Amino acid sequence: MINIIIFIILFLVIVNWFQIISFSSLFVGPKIKTSTIKDEWIKNVVKKKTGLNLFDVTLFHDKKMYGMMAGLPFWPKMILSTGLYKSFNKDELEWVILHEAGHCVLWHNLQSFFIEMIILSVGIYLIQKNKINLFFIPLYAILLSIVSIYLIRWTTEYMADKYSINLVDNPRGVITAQDKFKKSIFRFLFHWNISSTLRIKMAKRRLMSAKL
Ligand SMILES: [Zn+2]
Repeated sequence: MINIIIFIILFLVIVNWFQIISFSSLFVGPKIKTSTIKDEWIKNVVKKKTGLNLFDVTLFHDKKMYGMMAGLPFWPKMILSTGLYKSFNKDELEWVILHEAGHCVLWHNLQSFFIEMIILSVGIYLIQKNKINLFFIPLYAILLSIVSIYLIRWTTEYMADKYSINLVDNPRGVITAQDKFKKSIFRFLFHWNISSTLRIKMAKRRLMSAKL
């Protein structure tokens, strides 16, 4: 029994690490300040291209660069860090907000939740069936978390990029945004996105086909 409890805790912590540190930084240690803005440009672009009605955007006052989407299509909550919001130009920002809105219209939060629950159940089942020793539980939890992270990454991050890169006015913004991200190692480590090279490839493909 203790094996299963330890496995569940470790698995959930590792898989949700990015969300956990982002949200805990609002309450503990050097707290991140937040504010809400009504950016008409963001609101209009998102509405026009994805159909999503954003009421406002929450800014995390943080120099690191990231965007997040909380909520479901009927309750969209877009979060952007000030680091990203201030340093990205309109073309780069358009890709980010469409990527985040894409997570919402494609029901990615729910999809990730289901993937997590399925892998978690498989993990519990295998621990019981094979009577896995407590000593091996951490390793086992890490392995299954990695499987879960990769599955989520390829079914949501890749899809959100495909969706947004097809919708942006200027795919060049996707390419220049990757350079700015490179300076932000944080995002690379904790927000398991697809590689910049793949995004640049997708943007170039759109530039070629549209002859923009
Ligand atoms: Zn994303």
